[in-house]
Amino acid sequence: MHPEPTTTDPRGLLASVFGFPGFRPGQEEIVQAVLAGRNTLAIMPTGGGKSLCFQLPALCRAGVTLVVSPLIALMRDQVRALRAAGVEAGALTSGNTEEETEAVFQALDEGRLKLLYIAPERLASAATLPMLRRIGVRLIAVDEAHCVSQWGHDFRPDYLRIGEMRRMLNVPLAAFTATADAETRDEIVARLFDGQPPETFLRGFDRPNIHLAFAVKDSPREQILRFAAARKGQSGIVYCGTRAKTETLAQALREAGHLTAFYHGGMEAEERRRVEIRFQQEDGLIVVATVAFGMGIDKPDIRWVAHADLPKSIESYYQEIGRAGRDGGAAETLTLYGPDDIRLRRSQIDEGLAPPERKQADHGRLNALLGLAEAVQCRRRVLLGYFGEESEACGNCDLCDRPAQVFDATDAVRKALSAILRTGEYFGAGHLIDILTGNATPKVRERGHDGLPTFGVGRDLSKPAWGAVFRQMMGRDLVRPDAERHGALRMTEAARPVLRGEAPVLLRQDTVDKAAPRVAVKMQVAEEDAGLLSALKAKRRALAEAAGVPAYVIFPDRTLIEMAEARPQTLDAMMGITGVGAKKLESFGAQFLSVITGAGEERLHPARMRLAGRDAGAIYDRLEEEQVRLARGEDGIGKHLSCTHATLRQIAERRPSTLSELAQITGMGEQKVERFGAAFLAVLND
Ligand code: ADP
Ligand code: ZN
Repeated sequence: MHPEPTTTDPRGLLASVFGFPGFRPGQEEIVQAVLAGRNTLAIMPTGGGKSLCFQLPALCRAGVTLVVSPLIALMRDQVRALRAAGVEAGALTSGNTEEETEAVFQALDEGRLKLLYIAPERLASAATLPMLRRIGVRLIAVDEAHCVSQWGHDFRPDYLRIGEMRRMLNVPLAAFTATADAETRDEIVARLFDGQPPETFLRGFDRPNIHLAFAVKDSPREQILRFAAARKGQSGIVYCGTRAKTETLAQALREAGHLTAFYHGGMEAEERRRVEIRFQQEDGLIVVATVAFGMGIDKPDIRWVAHADLPKSIESYYQEIGRAGRDGGAAETLTLYGPDDIRLRRSQIDEGLAPPERKQADHGRLNALLGLAEAVQCRRRVLLGYFGEESEACGNCDLCDRPAQVFDATDAVRKALSAILRTGEYFGAGHLIDILTGNATPKVRERGHDGLPTFGVGRDLSKPAWGAVFRQMMGRDLVRPDAERHGALRMTEAARPVLRGEAPVLLRQDTVDKAAPRVAVKMQVAEEDAGLLSALKAKRRALAEAAGVPAYVIFPDRTLIEMAEARPQTLDAMMGITGVGAKKLESFGAQFLSVITGAGEERLHPARMRLAGRDAGAIYDRLEEEQVRLARGEDGIGKHLSCTHATLRQIAERRPSTLSELAQITGMGEQKVERFGAAFLAVLND
């Protein structure tokens, strides 16, 4: 017998099931290791494509792969996406209906199920282990493996049972996480692998598709409205520092004509869940939220994230912007900040209940973020540098787009420090600026500050320019607001060398974003393709609504963009689009094709559909032509004969080279070989 086209080759399945032309960086090595049955730990940034690293091996390997994942909502989405791609997957969670659970067990009993998702709570049940033994689990995959860490913020006690389960089942385990710090990694190895180091893959932190930008607050509401207006119709998140602000900003965005919802921890759980579901399923919704919005969302096609207020640390910043563009498509971010943010974040740390070392560390993380905000060179280099990675200028951040203008501010900074020290470190920036610019306000006169030697020494700079100097000094941690003195600025150790004239300071020429309110809409595709793209999106929305699934489960943005640009005219060409696998071609191909061609739906016999996009497809078509031509023989008066579609498909795939090989194909009787044989072989030899 001839072998069927290989189905257990991971590259083949990558294309035919997931519709991806190749692996993302790092995926292939991980897939190979997992496939070979080695214990593995993969640390990859969010959006790096971790799921594929266990889904693909699960399809290639015999038996069931057990997937442990912390959140029911995420699990259900993954299962839905897998099913849409034609993969037998199921979940056992407390959110299941009885029918769903029944269907999962039936698929297990029939040996069909390839991936079984299970909530960690279920591991606590005594019935679980025998069940897993019975169904033939051959591999365990642990998503968000950092949840075993007791010191992390996502600790799940039930994750501690996974190690024991691995031992009892005696199967390989593959652990995945985006959190890479060394302590967490050690804990994962200790708890999941009994301290035996697994094969470890560490993929960098870079998310090159995310554009980075910061702007100093200057009518912040207008800044956010402008940013959103330029991205109208694209899904985005606006993070705010307070609950109240989420509601007012959502209102403003709604009035500007955007599809908007707000979300914060003060809302009823049910209401929050409703917003999460809307965001997941609707196209182009903006959610204005506090940081409470995040864990429960797994939407790969978020196109932008804006911070209306400064995040609390560089880690939070990285995590929050990282929710954008997980599908690998272009995504944009904007983070607004100002002196008030710096004061607020400092006082939150100072007034918190953490022990002193912890507060010190928190100030350090905030400093790192402020350093990024006030950066004078490529932001990605600064960001990755913080995580210990070296990189070149990225070409995808605001400072690469438009280099910063810096000036030597040593003199200005020393004047400011002197004003702070001479007033006993008891005043905020406003009063200090009045002194420097020689503005004899009543408060200045009352304190006798108009008699200081620093009075009026800073007249060369305007008031806003001094504001920028003070902000940047706070950003560089040269001065810190003191919560106990109502935010009065105090000098830090870092400022001493500057004061002594030993270290020069370069500051940015004011970074206030005065960009004209030009609302050039950022398009996902060139103008001539935009109409087609929105027609394709409308089709996607209709299909998603009918099926009750998120839009990206039908096709991600990137796939629709590629369709709009490449405009495939046949189902064969459609198969060449990234994200179109065999199952999705069968389910949706014809409908999207008719949107592109404007014609009715092209219908292909299922046997032919399976060959779409392959050489065998074209051969099939020519065999079919020959068969029509010869249906009544060369002379056109013979008995009517034809082969079934299944037979033609087998001939196209197996390519017999002789009449006797052709005769072995099911359905090719003697008469048919006689009638079609020579013509078919001619096609095949061509
Ligand atoms: P995470 O690492 O955050 O879990 P996911 O597994 O959710 O990331 O993958 C993020 C997105 O990238 C998904 O939309 C997925 O379909 C897509 N993706 C994964 N691997 C590839 C690939 N090799 N080619 C194209 N897209 C991919
Ligand atoms: Zn850059």
